[in-house]
Amino acid sequence: MATDLRVSLTDKCNLRCTYCMPAEGLDWMAGSDQLTEDEVVRLVTVAVERLGVREVRFTGGEPLVRRGLVDIVARTKAIETPLGAVETSLTTNGLGLARTAVALAEAGLDRVNVSLDSVRRETFHQLTRRDRLHDVVAGLEGAAAAGLGPVKVNAVLMRGVNDDQAAELLGWCLERGYELRFIEQMPLDAQHGWSRDGMIVADEILASLEAAFVLTPAEEPRGSAPAERFLVNGGPATVGVIASVTRPFCGDCDRVRLTADGQVRTCLFAREESDLRGAMRGGATDAELAERWLVAMRGKAAGHGIDDPTFLQPSRPMSAIGG
Ligand code: SAM
Ligand code: SF4
Repeated sequence: MATDLRVSLTDKCNLRCTYCMPAEGLDWMAGSDQLTEDEVVRLVTVAVERLGVREVRFTGGEPLVRRGLVDIVARTKAIETPLGAVETSLTTNGLGLARTAVALAEAGLDRVNVSLDSVRRETFHQLTRRDRLHDVVAGLEGAAAAGLGPVKVNAVLMRGVNDDQAAELLGWCLERGYELRFIEQMPLDAQHGWSRDGMIVADEILASLEAAFVLTPAEEPRGSAPAERFLVNGGPATVGVIASVTRPFCGDCDRVRLTADGQVRTCLFAREESDLRGAMRGGATDAELAERWLVAMRGKAAGHGIDDPTFLQPSRPMSAIGG
């Protein structure tokens, strides 16, 4: 059963990463469709108290643009369980994190993952369509200083854009004590620009890192963690590769997702959703919401099937599902 809940707090974003969104952005969700702060907290509480969720990660879109984020974190952390407070984390592009890191830490946030694909200003601009590298760097520093560690960095490599910069990015992260993980590009962009042949696969990422570093598999069993981790130059620092496409880990996946408009999704690639917002606004009790959620989780498919010729990209892009 899923113990790790990803909650998307908004589909809006202040960057336009080419692998995620078109330059003009998307038709954002109507405000009335989005869960209110109370509704988010209620559903998270149902998941923690009745479904056994132990970790809550807030994402988006860009969660830092969501008003009420600090309160949502604090109220999530305050949910009482026999096993103590749940672990909370945030996946963010880092813009504005320098300003909010202390408040988030005080609200009880445990960790952050910051997305950063290049430490070269021009490449960053090209990939995100915004000249904001300095803000992300400041956000990372703010997060580390606020104790939101270990700070993790997520990177996607794009052919011909930053695929020559994997080792440079790793060196930069190692110097600062950030744990870098590369994510294979997935077919989740709104503009359907992904192709199996165009993507940089895990084997290429590792080969490019091994030209500059000695990598050895990290000892611990991978379990349900999506990242395959490697010790860098004998450790203790590590680097991870999340090979969702070429080395899927669906069998061990313990995640469930809640979209910003209150739909349960059992997989990023699922084509079905279960509507908790409608049920909640229609007067469902917590027990009824939990039952509906459980039914959705029982229906989870065994694998994502990206390599299956009949694979269909989900109708929502990553930014609207919650990455
Ligand atoms: N805006 C936040 C951020 O960028 O971290 C949170 C949402 S974003 C959708 C979550 C993660 O998904 C980011 O690390 C981003 O790089 C990754 N991502 C977005 N589109 C992707 C794609 N097509 N393939 C792989 N990863 C993707
Ligand atoms: Fe925004 Fe994150 Fe998508 Fe980039 S990956 S456009 S930061 S939601």
